[in-house]
Amino acid sequence: MSNETIKMTSGEYVPIEMHKVRVVQKLNLLPIEKRLKAIEDAGYNTFLLQNRDVFMDMLTDSGTNAMSDQQIAAMMVADDAYAGSESFNRLQEAVEEILGTQYFLPAHQGRAAEHIISQAFIKKGDIVPMNFHFTTTKAHVELAGGKVVELFTNDALEIKSDKPFKGNMDIDKLKDLVKTAGKDKIPYIRMEAGTNLIGGQPFSVENMRAVRKVADENGILIVLDISLVCENMYFIKMREPEFMDKSPAEILRTLCDLADIIYFSARKISCSRGGGIATKNHELYLKMRDMVPLFEGFLTYGGISVREIESMAVGLREAIDWNVIRHSPEFIKYLVDSLDAKGIPVITPAGGLGAHLDARGFLPHLTSFDYPAGALAAALYIVSGVRGMERGTISMDRDEKGNDVPSEVELLRLAFPRRVFTLSQVKYAEDRIEWLWKNRELIGGLKFTEEPKVLRFFVGRLAPASDWPQKLQAKFREDFGDSL
Ligand SMILES: *Cc1c(COP(=O)(O)O)cnc(C)c1O
Repeated sequence: MSNETIKMTSGEYVPIEMHKVRVVQKLNLLPIEKRLKAIEDAGYNTFLLQNRDVFMDMLTDSGTNAMSDQQIAAMMVADDAYAGSESFNRLQEAVEEILGTQYFLPAHQGRAAEHIISQAFIKKGDIVPMNFHFTTTKAHVELAGGKVVELFTNDALEIKSDKPFKGNMDIDKLKDLVKTAGKDKIPYIRMEAGTNLIGGQPFSVENMRAVRKVADENGILIVLDISLVCENMYFIKMREPEFMDKSPAEILRTLCDLADIIYFSARKISCSRGGGIATKNHELYLKMRDMVPLFEGFLTYGGISVREIESMAVGLREAIDWNVIRHSPEFIKYLVDSLDAKGIPVITPAGGLGAHLDARGFLPHLTSFDYPAGALAAALYIVSGVRGMERGTISMDRDEKGNDVPSEVELLRLAFPRRVFTLSQVKYAEDRIEWLWKNRELIGGLKFTEEPKVLRFFVGRLAPASDWPQKLQAKFREDFGDSL
């Protein structure tokens, strides 16, 4: 832990909120009977639940991070103009100051930036190597006719690990790929900070430098996704000796200086909305620029409201504040370490995006085709009102032949939107997960009843393979009496 961590008399480590709550939102905790009805109505897909039926919304950190007072204040002075808005100028200044890039293209969110980058650089048959894919990234690479090749290291997918940088790219695999595929087939290498789908695991600066070296030797561009870079920076500062005494601002600049194109989802990095693409290279900027008015909006708003543009500018500056950066990783570590100590299968070491339960370890009686991560997500909602996200086989679309593609990992992600939950809420989630663990043999599989072809996890509907949800509810009532 950092020097600034507050020590308790008992020696116990307790993460502390370095902010106070001044605006609150009421929460509902429905009785279990109503939660069961709600998940049935949602087709056993937590994406389709209504927020009013959710107690702790741990689906995602996307657009759900708490804003600061400074961000909300900035929204009040937004300058509404189609072209040449002062709000945009303030954003552009913030981007240049924080990322060190002169050229900035706004896009309505992260995937819109991915759309533009993919359309600008990928030709049919191209290959895009990355440390790990993200759902929308992969869909956009494929839409542009390219193919994603993941070059994660052998320890990336280990559930129990003490590896500090599970998000690293495997440099030998990268060199091999460049040799076999040919550098002309590789429009860019993509590095994702805080790799979302493997649990918010970081890569090191050392690794990024090694990727840069291969890219330079072969004249290949690097695209850096900094949507989750804050938490990646946290781990670099905590774990990479060269950076222990460096400020978050210096670490971020070091990373950005190693990339040719940088993009982000402002829903994550700056606790606001929107997204954007930044580069120092005028030629690359021009290759992408004309798509912004076509798909997003004029160059000085990119489909984002000027209020959000103001909050993005402030949020980007706050993204290098150590107390903002460390909040989520420290709360996540608290939950992960508590669950791990009880023998509950959870990804270690704790990452930066959320706690990730290992659904395969949790539900060994289910196969990938029973969708264990989806079943665990539904079960946890039923017993707690906590909404997590399936990150397993449901999140993989079928192959061309229509077969399910078993995911390498079956995870239930419990995201920690920044500065949203208190420690007592985290303890409640921990308690219900522990209860579920003790009653895990009651949980059965799911099957699709309505299945979209692309990104099916968003709106697909499923049903339980048996009456296991009713059995879970009965056991809950038996153990908890009339408790909510
Ligand atoms: C969320 C996310 C995206 C996509 O951003 P949206 O704003 O949701 O479109 C891209 N990359 C990473 C790493 C993300 O976490």
